[in-house]
Amino acid sequence: MFALQGDVREHLHALERLGARTLRVRRPEELAQCDGLVLPGGESTTMFKLARTFDLFEPIVERIADGMPTFGTCAGMIMLADRVKDGTRDQETFGGLDVTVRRNAFGRQVDSFEGDLDVAGLADPVHAVFIRAPWIEQAGESVEVLASVAVAGADRIVAVRQGHLLATAFHPEVGDDDRVHGLFVDLVTQ
Ligand code: GLN
Repeated sequence: MFALQGDVREHLHALERLGARTLRVRRPEELAQCDGLVLPGGESTTMFKLARTFDLFEPIVERIADGMPTFGTCAGMIMLADRVKDGTRDQETFGGLDVTVRRNAFGRQVDSFEGDLDVAGLADPVHAVFIRAPWIEQAGESVEVLASVAVAGADRIVAVRQGHLLATAFHPEVGDDDRVHGLFVDLVTQ
């Protein structure tokens, strides 16, 4: 669990409810002990800067490229994306996920919202909470789209899986529905 910034505790609770052993990662030695990594929601530019300051940036990039299962939510999804648009400049990320993400994509009117969302592989809809969320504008061929929402007539991708990587624009750690975290635990244990 990346623990330099973001809603770390909620993710830890979800993972622990599923029986996973968890560890807060703030240093490279801690990352080395992990079989998988969660990148939480928060603020992606701050996460990026802190990861650099704590010498975690390069080790995380390497582990992701090496195949470590990684789950990014919201700001964490931004950090996993190979390409980011935020309207002003390109943002540096850990990368690995062959997608282009737009930060704060939903704009002011629907800045933050929640609703029931169908997610591929889950029998019933997930109650999805979006907080200044990004969406995926473009996804490469190896990216599996798990969920989309219709915004002003266009379908916007909000959950994807690509091999060992899972990402959601919403916050499945909010509440007590652990099924999306279950998809991640499956990636770690399979
Ligand atoms: N807007 C944030 C960012 O761009 C993400 C918001 C979130 O993680 N809830 O980093």
